[in-house]
Amino acid sequence: MNGFACPRCGDITFVFCAGGERRMASEMKVPFLGSIPIDPQFAEACDKGRAYVYHNSLSSTSRIMADIIQPIAALDAADSELMNKSLSA
Ligand SMILES: [Zn+2]
Repeated sequence: MNGFACPRCGDITFVFCAGGERRMASEMKVPFLGSIPIDPQFAEACDKGRAYVYHNSLSSTSRIMADIIQPIAALDAADSELMNKSLSA
């Protein structure tokens, strides 16, 4: 998370130091998958129990989420087991 998604125009304004999330992932020795911005529409969807990406598929936040989900979805069962082991270690 490093930005704020404007609810009016969808532009993302970066409000935190650049690169902090990448640095943290590197320090934790985990892959950096992406940065999801603070998005009031995402919070509203969660509060209402609605699938944000389904109802806001054209938003910047949804595109970022899709980019993050893609490599995770591409993991096969063996990769998933390795990931679970590394997370529980
Ligand atoms: Zn705006």
